[in-house]
Amino acid sequence: MPELPEVEHIRRGLREHIAGKTIARVSLPFPGLVKNMDAAAFIEKICEQKVGVLRRRGKYILVYLDQYLLEIHLRMTGTFLFYPGVVEPGPHTRAVFTFQGSDETLHFQDIRKFGTFRLWEHGETEVSPAFCLGLDPLEDDFCFSRFAERLQAKPHTRLKSFLLDQKNIAGLGNIYVDEALHRARIHPSRLLKTLSELEKRALHVSIVALLQESIQWGGTSFSDYRGLQGQRGVFQEHLKVYQKEKEPCSHCGHPLARIVHAGRGTYLCLRCQEPPLLSPGSIQS
Ligand SMILES: [Zn+2]
Repeated sequence: MPELPEVEHIRRGLREHIAGKTIARVSLPFPGLVKNMDAAAFIEKICEQKVGVLRRRGKYILVYLDQYLLEIHLRMTGTFLFYPGVVEPGPHTRAVFTFQGSDETLHFQDIRKFGTFRLWEHGETEVSPAFCLGLDPLEDDFCFSRFAERLQAKPHTRLKSFLLDQKNIAGLGNIYVDEALHRARIHPSRLLKTLSELEKRALHVSIVALLQESIQWGGTSFSDYRGLQGQRGVFQEHLKVYQKEKEPCSHCGHPLARIVHAGRGTYLCLRCQEPPLLSPGSIQS
């Protein structure tokens, strides 16, 4: 599933290729892609709209048009492919955009069909799920004090569960949470109230640095994720723990482990990331 770096990489690719262009035609081989209106209404509204700013909130891409906001979530396998000429839709193409004054084609491709498009009028975005998210680690307001405030608000939540919840921190998934916790050397099952100031600072720095590095490497391509020209990201070659069970820890050489935390496969070093002491009857979640 694309996480924040992959979505950001796609946002930048879209900005490069479609910002400033006017949409000429849209076809929707899979009309169910549009979630908040029927496909015909979507097509009528979006044609002849000029593409302005492209933003990202968590894992949502927001395309600002003259009159509307197009909110895109890629979910499991959604991605965009940009072509300099006319290209017919393939078996997994769910939407095709063309632009005025050129033959360029933008395809939205999605094997699993979980991706979503929503079109909002400017001013009605308070109902958009993209605007109900927690702190975005790449926004300027992701400072340490705001991060620490969020941690303090949920003292009895376990760290990995907290980080995966998009209402706390927007954009992190299983891969980057495991990597950030290993980098900060903190066990995923720690209760938030047990974190020291130094650990919180280490985690804050780790999250930001990790995401920035991943974006520089074009994101992580494990399965279907591709950039706009079909290119794979290469950050998977720089991961330290994710899916590396039994390989030596990059910090200490101890074999890495896989545990299950809140139902999610979790990779870590049990020497660097010391497990919390469990009180009798406590629930590991
Ligand atoms: Zn280690």
